[in-house]
Amino acid sequence: SVSVWLCHHVFWGFFVGGWWWWKKPSEQLFHENTHLLPAENGEKVTRLFLRELLNILLAYINKSQNRSSKVLDFHYPHQLKEGREGFSLELPDQPENLEQLLVDCRDTLKYGVKTGHPRFFNQLSTGLDIIGLAGEWLTSTANTNMFTYEVAPVFILMEEVILKKMQTFIGWSEEEGDGIFSPGGTMSNLYSVLLARYHFFPHVKTEGMHALPRLALFTSAHSHYSIKKSAVTLGIGSENVFLLKNPVLSPQGLFPFYVNTTAGTTVYGAFDPISDIADICENHGLWLHVDGAWGGGLLLSERHRTKLRGIERASSVTWNPHKMMCVPLQCSAILVRKKGLLQKCNQLSAEYLFQMDKHYDTSYDTGDKTIQCGRHVDVFKLWLMWKAKVVHSTHPSTKPSAAYGNILQHIPEHSNVCFWYLPTTTVLRRLKGSVHVSKVAPKIKAKMMESGATMVGYQPLGDKVNFFRCVFSNPATQKADVDFLVDEIARLGSNLSHLKYEPNQGV
Ligand SMILES: *Cc1c(COP(=O)(O)O)cnc(C)c1O
Repeated sequence: SVSVWLCHHVFWGFFVGGWWWWKKPSEQLFHENTHLLPAENGEKVTRLFLRELLNILLAYINKSQNRSSKVLDFHYPHQLKEGREGFSLELPDQPENLEQLLVDCRDTLKYGVKTGHPRFFNQLSTGLDIIGLAGEWLTSTANTNMFTYEVAPVFILMEEVILKKMQTFIGWSEEEGDGIFSPGGTMSNLYSVLLARYHFFPHVKTEGMHALPRLALFTSAHSHYSIKKSAVTLGIGSENVFLLKNPVLSPQGLFPFYVNTTAGTTVYGAFDPISDIADICENHGLWLHVDGAWGGGLLLSERHRTKLRGIERASSVTWNPHKMMCVPLQCSAILVRKKGLLQKCNQLSAEYLFQMDKHYDTSYDTGDKTIQCGRHVDVFKLWLMWKAKVVHSTHPSTKPSAAYGNILQHIPEHSNVCFWYLPTTTVLRRLKGSVHVSKVAPKIKAKMMESGATMVGYQPLGDKVNFFRCVFSNPATQKADVDFLVDEIARLGSNLSHLKYEPNQGV
């Protein structure tokens, strides 16, 4: 009948109209990029654009947690440069529309590495903490700079609260303690050497290195290379860094001033005996630094904090919440026992930022404590996570299970597990005399990257040739993922016949 016909058409009319109405803003969205805020009436397009972006990010996050998805889709640099399936790194001559930008966002994630994947064991900073992610998003939205209270009032006070809390966990008294967030553990370690030097030779600030004796600093052979790099950067010189494993008598004229101890070495996860070294430092009046970039997070664990016994005697501490505590990159603090030293050492009182006649307590303009000008807000995500988590434990137990007895002869000191993969006897027989253990890990790693199902790091260290280093700091990892890794290494390692003999390569 006519009425049914009419109804039908009216319905379709509404449907099509509704579809058009609904589609229209995204049509705009897809073809214009000038309609985002601050454009007039830009809220709607902005909301749609960000919602689309959020969908992309959520899809990525879900995929990262999905064990059947790859950890990475590896391409060689030239392949990515050539462009893959429409994804081009080249910059266009004309502005591109939002649709294209969203596609680019999706592709950028597609060709990257899913560091939050349960089978990603490659780095000390892994995992994706959702609270931390929320903190990072908020931080970018606030888009402020940490140099003054004037422009970052909330974050400056949060930094004070968090630094104080970290100092309490170190064990410093109320009267002690200062610190600042820096762009990573390398920078925090640089601060420690800078402060130690200033502590003994304040005139270095104005007169420079020529006014100083030849300085010597001490660290262990397994310490992070950033200690040596600090000596290089600060004009002390890498030759004046002495490794404690092979104590050298200081040549005449050297002035020892600084000792670094590592709480959780990068490769082995070993802890230096801080207390014993503190005795020596006290006897000789040396600055004691604890590089807890990796192991600092254990201070929050009642069970494991004994590994850092004596840390309260340190003059300075590096602590990277972006490692064991899984705070999104980056988040690192340099903590200093002596109050006021950071300020004195670095202050230059630029008058356009740090006016002394401001109407609030200008000691909250902490930016002059740093060697930077602008500084990213790294504290908020940590503050938010700290509130969200039980502070007395870091992670679910990372103790390796007994099933790995074949690769673990000892209970590891930290959550690093280092091991060699030795090809089976049949493979070895086939390869007789033609394979070197040092070649095995890089070869397996290359195959692993190409297959993309898991990722683990390898390195040589001292007299040990290339071995795998599996680090556990990803809360998504479960026992089955470790099984997977071991099986994958065995699978990829079962066919290494094309390895070439190189007589100069020791085993
Ligand atoms: C990772 C690490 C560092 C360097 O920290 P970044 O944040 O990567 O600069 C320093 N020391 C130790 C022991 C580390 O493990």
